[in-house]
Order: sequence, then structure tokens, then C-alpha cells
Amino acid sequence: MKLYKKDTSFTLTRDAVRLFFALNFYLLAKTLGIEFEFESEYVVLGSILIFGPLFCGWFCPFGASSYFMTRIGNFLFPKLQFTIPQPFDGWLRNVKYLMLVGFLYLFISQGVNYFAEHMDMYKANAFSWNYIQLKHWAVLFIPLFIPGFFCKYMCFQKAGYNIVNRLFTITRIKRNADTCTGCKKCDRVCPMEIKLSKHDVVSGEDCLGCYNCLDRDTCPEKIRALSLVMFGREINHVYFSIAAISLYLVATYLVLFVLKW
Ligand code: SF4
Ligand code: SF4
Repeated sequence: MKLYKKDTSFTLTRDAVRLFFALNFYLLAKTLGIEFEFESEYVVLGSILIFGPLFCGWFCPFGASSYFMTRIGNFLFPKLQFTIPQPFDGWLRNVKYLMLVGFLYLFISQGVNYFAEHMDMYKANAFSWNYIQLKHWAVLFIPLFIPGFFCKYMCFQKAGYNIVNRLFTITRIKRNADTCTGCKKCDRVCPMEIKLSKHDVVSGEDCLGCYNCLDRDTCPEKIRALSLVMFGREINHVYFSIAAISLYLVATYLVLFVLKW
């Protein structure tokens, strides 16, 4: 079963950006000893507010690792690609919201130092050590066979971003029901299995902002029923992505280097 969109110049560029940001994260952390701590969460949150879920599909190192493992799985085990059937998929997607509640409880009751201390592999307590182990499996191994497993079911940040996206984000993916023919091509290229052909607006439904659905060979050119909308105006998703990448890069480095040193 083929689970990912055929590569285009847009998807290949996006994958290169994903790889860069994933390596950036690991290399900075490992070689220069710079940890991505809560300061960088402000950049992520700002990015989510301004650019919508684009962070998940372009910048997140865990999302990228999971995505590339799925690409490897697609290549090595094409016959062993699975998706979780309904209604289990729907139920499991709620697990990350429960995890978010647990995270918020610990954050409020124990403070930010709890995470600095216990989410560190070497200082982890029994609970966080198990979580870290589970996360490794969910990011690195399960996506070989089940695409998007970590982002769909386990990422409590994604749960939070979904809520923020629904409430505040200034960009949305819109479907024009008058021109849409219901061909479902967009449904088939969505890595999060969002049924775009049934939504008028996508905001916060686990969307990664990958823009597969907006790529030029998805919704037929003559129809162009899908568009990216900002403050009610249609915008070009390619230019928007370029602006987001540039600003995110500058903001991340400013926070990491200027504020920390
Ligand atoms: S809705 Fe579109 S942008 Fe969002 S995850 Fe699906 S394909 Fe990507
Ligand atoms: S690809 Fe376009 S025409 Fe086909 S279902 Fe999606 S929005 Fe409608």
C-alpha cells in the first residue's frame, strides 16, 4: 500500500528543509551542547500562532524523524504498511490530549524544572524514563510500519498546537464546495488521513501544514478547490512556506544564541 504522495519539486524541497531542521536540532544539541529548552518553545508557539501547523510538517525534529522512518519503511517493507482502522484510530488520537492534561498538571504542580530534570535521559525517574523509551519506539520504529504514529497518537505538543490552531491561528486550508468534484485525491495525499473532501475548513484537525493537499498536482488545476487562506485572503503556499522558513530560522537562532549567551 502506498501511503505517501508521489514526490514533486515541492515535496522534495520540503523534505530537504525537514532534514536540515532535524539535523540542526541534533547537531546543535550534540556538538555545541545547546539544548532546545523552553525558550525555543516560545519560538514554536509564535510559529504556530502565525504560520499554523506548518511547524509540525517542516521544522519539528521528531515529526521529521518519524516521517523519514516511514519513507524508509515504504521503501524496505512496502507490503507491511498499516493504518489503524476506525473507530480505533479516532479513539487513539485522543490519547495525546490525555497526555497533554498530564503534562499541564505536572507543569503547574512541579514547575518547569521538573521537565528539565526528569525528561533528561540520564536523570529520568521511572515514569519519564518509560515515556522516553516509548517515545523512541514511537518516533523511530513504529513509523516503519504505521505512518504518522507518533504525531497522530502520542505527541502531546501536537494536541496543544491543535487547540491553539483551532482558536487563534490566522491561516486555514479552505475547500470550495462549489468547485470541488469530490474526487478525494486530496484525502489520499494527506499523511494524517484528514478527509479534506468532507471539510470546508481545516484548522486543528491534526493537520501538519505539509501542504501536500495544496501541491499543484493534487486538486486538479482547473478546479483548484483547495486554498490557503490568511485573514480571509487566499495566499500562495509556496511563498508562505519560504517566509515561514526564513523567519523561523532567524527566530530560533536569535533565541538560542542571543538570549542564552
Ligand atoms: S490537510 Fe493538507 S496540509 Fe494538512 S496534513 Fe493533510 S495534506 Fe498536509
Ligand atoms: S482534490 Fe480537489 S476536487 Fe478532489 S476532493 Fe479534494 S478538493 Fe475536491
